[in-house]
Amino acid sequence: MAIREILRLGNPILFEKCEEIKDFHSTNTAETIQDLKDTLLNFKKENGFGRGIAAPQIGILKRIIYIDYQTEKLSGPLINPQIVRQSKERIQLWDDCFSFPDLMVKVERFKEIGVEFFNSSEEKTFINAKDALSELLQHEIDHLAGILSVQRAIGPKAFAFRQEWVKYLKK
Ligand SMILES: [Zn+2]
Repeated sequence: MAIREILRLGNPILFEKCEEIKDFHSTNTAETIQDLKDTLLNFKKENGFGRGIAAPQIGILKRIIYIDYQTEKLSGPLINPQIVRQSKERIQLWDDCFSFPDLMVKVERFKEIGVEFFNSSEEKTFINAKDALSELLQHEIDHLAGILSVQRAIGPKAFAFRQEWVKYLKK
């Protein structure tokens, strides 16, 4: 078990593409999953927010994300996740990220997506995600392609520090 350092905006690793997991049962894969879980839960405890983390955020360029989203009863690793379906309808929202926790970014996401992934027992799984879970999964899967929410900003006014966002923009 290890809480890892979270890479911050400006670290070039965050812009790199991740490789698919081929060996589900290796020690490396198991350690990555455990470290993602420990780091996510620790971040949540210290910062009061956080529902998902992607492997490149702890410096591992592999296609694994870890979600802990009790409201949607989704908790665990998603290995090699792929968006296989997306709604025409889109939503706009203010997004945050562990890699720049003080910065809010307004982005547009698909309202609904279908995601295929493998769980840690190498079983192929499908989930249909709406609204908050949909945008969370799009955010985390973007990380695996080296894409950060700052690259999805919908315009020059789409940035705010968290304190100012709470004061002026939060609804
Ligand atoms: Zn993020």
